[in-house]
Amino acid sequence: MSRMLLHICCGPCAPYVVEQLKKEYEVTLYFYNPNIHPYEEYERRLAEARRLALDSDLPFMEEKYDPDNWLTATKGFENEPEKGKRCEVCFDIRLSKTADTAARKGFDVFAAVLSISPHKDSVVINRVGASAGDNHGVKFLEANWKKKEGFKITTRMADSIGFYRQNYCGCVFSLRTRNKRETEKRNA
Ligand code: SF4
Repeated sequence: MSRMLLHICCGPCAPYVVEQLKKEYEVTLYFYNPNIHPYEEYERRLAEARRLALDSDLPFMEEKYDPDNWLTATKGFENEPEKGKRCEVCFDIRLSKTADTAARKGFDVFAAVLSISPHKDSVVINRVGASAGDNHGVKFLEANWKKKEGFKITTRMADSIGFYRQNYCGCVFSLRTRNKRETEKRNA
């Protein structure tokens, strides 16, 4: 079986993707998410990702949390909407690190859970992933996991496990957007 490094950013999105990929690959879960803010939220998502690895009997790797580098790289894109330019930079930071680690540790291929989210553009994720793979000499598995009811299925699986489900994408800017939305709803 080929060895795969699978980028994961939380527990609830991933069960379906992990279940599918395990059939064809020897999967290692890889947590590199310097975008997540605040640190307490990072720890919470990390704990759920670890729990999935344990439940699925898969190896787990955590990369160092370096939010300052992420903030520097996304400077100027603070006011972009979700699915905009900031997200593309964010995917690139995370998938480039995944590709680099995959190449250095001798994995045959790397992939990401990201495209399962209805809020994320799989075309952009696949373009960014393929380019990161080319730069580091390791293959990226292109996918659109939300297809064929993927998101619904993974949500059902996650709910049955009882995973914590976040209500914003992850970065400080998406958190602000969520807070603004909630305030507007309350004041409507
Ligand atoms: S909204 Fe999500 S994908 Fe976009 S920059 Fe923030 S954390 Fe990254």
